[in-house]
Order: sequence, then structure tokens, then C-alpha cells
Amino acid sequence: MSPNNQPPDVDRLARSMLMLHGDHDSHDEPAPAANGRRGGSSSKASAFADDPERAAAVAAATQADRTRYLTSGLQPVDCRFCHATVNVKRLGPGHTAVQWNAEASQRCAYFAELRATGEHSARTRSCPKLGDSIEHAVAEGCLEAVSTAPPAGDG
Ligand SMILES: [Zn+2]
Repeated sequence: MSPNNQPPDVDRLARSMLMLHGDHDSHDEPAPAANGRRGGSSSKASAFADDPERAAAVAAATQADRTRYLTSGLQPVDCRFCHATVNVKRLGPGHTAVQWNAEASQRCAYFAELRATGEHSARTRSCPKLGDSIEHAVAEGCLEAVSTAPPAGDG
């Protein structure tokens, strides 16, 4: 009545291997999930922890993001037609931030014209002639084609 004709060692070894394998599997399964969850939620923090300088830079950039996005990287550009000086920042093709000041909007012939015709300059974001001047400034290297100063979201 002995079912084990074979050497018990092999059977036991096979079973232990199977158990080991099974145990390893069941133990392994939740591990990657937990790791993945943990890595997903704190990957940024851990990455920055490895690089405190970058962490500080990112924190500073985030903190001052709005201000820097609006003011940093602005470069003065003279409107060639009106000789009004405005602060300009190119964010990319077709996306140009122009910061008008009171003097510039007073000097700008286009805005003066609009005022003369009773239009509200507030409704007009930019002098079209200034747009040409901006393109010239970029072409002459006076203005960055795409501002490198403030990363809006720090990629
Ligand atoms: Zn103008």
C-alpha cells in the first residue's frame, strides 16, 4: 500500500519547489502593485529628493510661476512706427506676450488712432505695426524667438 514507489526525495523536492514557486508567486504578485502605487504617487518627490537643487528650483518656479510667467523674460521692443517701447516675450510661434505701459499706449499711433475713432484700446491687445517690429526684433536677434527665461510649467 505504499504509493511512493519513487524515491521520496524527488517528490518532496518537487513539492517543495512547487510550494516555493507558488509562495514566491503569491508573494511576488502584490509586491509590484504596491511598488507601482507607491512609485506613482511619490515619483516626483523621490526624484526631487535625489536632486534637492532641482527640487528647490521647481518649488521656487512653482511659487513664483505666475509672476515669472508674466514678467520674466520680457524684453523691450520699440515699435518702429510709433517708437513706443513695450515689453515683449515670445512664448512661441504665434504666441507673443506684450506688456503695454501707459507711456507706450500713449505713444502708439495705432492706439492713438483707435482713441481718435472712439474705440477702446483695451479691446485691442496689440498694435499690428508693433507685431511687425517684434518680428524684426526676432529676425535681428534682439528678441528671443521663444523665450527661455521662465518655464511655464517646467516640463
Ligand atoms: Zn504701435
